[in-house]
Amino acid sequence: MTREQDDLMRRGIGMTSQRTRERLIQRLYEEGISNAQVLEVIRRTPRHLFVDEALAHRAYEDTALPIGNNQTISQPYMVARMSELLLEAGPLDKVLEIGTGSGYQTAVLSQLVERVFSVERIKVLQDRAKERLVELNLRNVVFRWGDGWEGWQALAPYNGIIVTAVATDVPQALLDQLAPGGRLVIPVGSGEVQQLMLIVREEQGFSRRVLGAVRFVPLLNGPLA
Ligand code: SAH
Repeated sequence: MTREQDDLMRRGIGMTSQRTRERLIQRLYEEGISNAQVLEVIRRTPRHLFVDEALAHRAYEDTALPIGNNQTISQPYMVARMSELLLEAGPLDKVLEIGTGSGYQTAVLSQLVERVFSVERIKVLQDRAKERLVELNLRNVVFRWGDGWEGWQALAPYNGIIVTAVATDVPQALLDQLAPGGRLVIPVGSGEVQQLMLIVREEQGFSRRVLGAVRFVPLLNGPLA
């Protein structure tokens, strides 16, 4: 991270006290997030810039918050946990994200991996997320307006894929777009019954790990203007 980026990240600290932000990091640590790099990136990423000003004072609570269009910014614990799972086997080059939303998870990821490719179906959310990342000078992200069920074939394969909305089944396109050894972190299920899964492309087929119950908004169909 350059000096300039560091300054940008610190901006706005006045709005939400440094202490509130430290408390969040402490809480994530106590809840089992152990990757120091992930904790550090969350510490310096200004989550209050990813929500409406009216909600900024709640930005460092460990909860999902509304971002309009019936969508939510992911809970910090989930962002941390999913990032940690992606990085568990070592550094990643190309990561595909499905469900840009506010761009908060995107911003966190962009500081942890080489390049992020992020797909969102709701144009207005994507536009806002793009602006925020430019403002924070996070430049290693490419955005696409489209349907995440299809992944992003043209730029495949990916070393990591993260899905931030719950899918009824694991999309076949995402499995197809995983590089050898590639890791897919995805909530699967519907309604109240959702499980976080880690799927890894092995030499022969895929291994699957079920990581526990989660709560996400649904992965819907098709792009929306
Ligand atoms: N990680 C985001 C979470 C946003 S909520 C954040 O922290 O802000 C999930 C997002 O997935 C929503 O923005 C929703 O519009 C998007 N989404 C749902 N179905 C999709 C699909 N089929 N393709 C792409 N994005 C989708």
